[in-house]
Amino acid sequence: MGTDQAHRDMGRALLEFQGAVFGALVIVGTAVLLSQPDALDPLLYAVGAGVITVATLITLICHNRPVLQRFAVLLPLVDLLGIRFTAHAEGATLSGGALLLILPMIWIAYSFGGRGILAGVALLVITTPVGLLQAYGGDMEPGNFTRIVAYPLTLLILAGAAGVSGARIRRKKVQLAAQTALTEQAVRARDDLIEAVTHELRTPLTSILGNAELVLHTNDAQAIERRAGVIVHNAEQMDTILADLLLARSTGTALLGLHITATDVRGLIENCLAASRTAADARGVSIDVSASDTLWTEIDPNRIRQVFDNLLTNAIKYNQVGGTVVISETRTVNTVTFAVTDSGCGIAPADRARVFEPYYRTESARHSSQEGSGLGLGISRDIARRHGGDLRLVESSARGSRFELILPLALSGHEDAVAQSGHENEQIVA
Ligand code: ADP
Repeated sequence: MGTDQAHRDMGRALLEFQGAVFGALVIVGTAVLLSQPDALDPLLYAVGAGVITVATLITLICHNRPVLQRFAVLLPLVDLLGIRFTAHAEGATLSGGALLLILPMIWIAYSFGGRGILAGVALLVITTPVGLLQAYGGDMEPGNFTRIVAYPLTLLILAGAAGVSGARIRRKKVQLAAQTALTEQAVRARDDLIEAVTHELRTPLTSILGNAELVLHTNDAQAIERRAGVIVHNAEQMDTILADLLLARSTGTALLGLHITATDVRGLIENCLAASRTAADARGVSIDVSASDTLWTEIDPNRIRQVFDNLLTNAIKYNQVGGTVVISETRTVNTVTFAVTDSGCGIAPADRARVFEPYYRTESARHSSQEGSGLGLGISRDIARRHGGDLRLVESSARGSRFELILPLALSGHEDAVAQSGHENEQIVA
């Protein structure tokens, strides 16, 4: 629920409450005036009724003002005072005004809980005549039992019950709001997923159908071979998208299983480069690597390969034709950082955090011919973090972007790594 709505609800509730107190006072006052006019002290009664009338007028005029709502507990406390005056005015034997005290007490307890009850009781005790309080100390007359014991006790029990109900309802409201937010989030995620899947799968599927149709209607062996190549390429793309979707689901619900092994990251990068060569050549993008010849560390090679693939694919596909990509490496005592810098269109400041969100693609990417699911960076960052590292977008401007993959250097040298992992023969295959 928004703050404005909460304020409006509170303002309306205050108005209804004040209306009830004022209405009850008018009815009880008229009844007392008609039945026992002599028992009333007109001055006290006028003061009490005046206090409540003023409180009602203030509520009527100001019920939409946040400041009144912030001090909402004061209103029923003012009513308690007003009703106390009218109760005194009726004399000790009449109880019309005294009974009215129940109304604000229950409202206070219901709306403001334990502290509200304490404030209300304290105010009642302070405004109770000394003579009435003395009755508790001396011998209790049977006639006074209802007024001095039963009535206050009933008031307290009712207020306590209202306080407990109010607290329970407030708790339920909070739970309900949290559940509603979760449900809305799940519905939004489902809609996003359907949209992303439909959008991402439609393009390669259309291409597969179109090319398959052409293959059916031609006898030209060269054309068939070319079309078949396109079909295979698009089918592979669909396979990658589906794998990404499955991985996104699993990372959302379960721990990603890592198979850590001593790996030469430089060798792994070379394999990624070989796999990206065709795409880079197609766009005339040159790739430079400035990193040590070998760098052994303990990682899950398949997962980290996936991260490099993602960074490299993005650096190529969001680059300008004829652009550049540079992969560089820096080390500290405990970490190694691989930076992938491209000369592409860059990412607008508002999008920089969002590109790691599942299914998020920048507007320029959505409108470009470059396909994607918007899942890669989120998955890659998750993989990096599961290794104890991170993936960050550290720089982006109209001249390009720079992503940094930080990995912990668990072991300093190849020998150590092999000795500790016992996986000397484990090789990374492109
Ligand atoms: P995909 O590339 O499949 O859409 P990613 O999660 O890899 O998904 O990237 C999310 C979005 O971030 C991309 O759609 C693109 O808008 C933006 N992006 C990622 N890398 C780059 C880059 N190097 N240059 C410009 N934009 C990028």
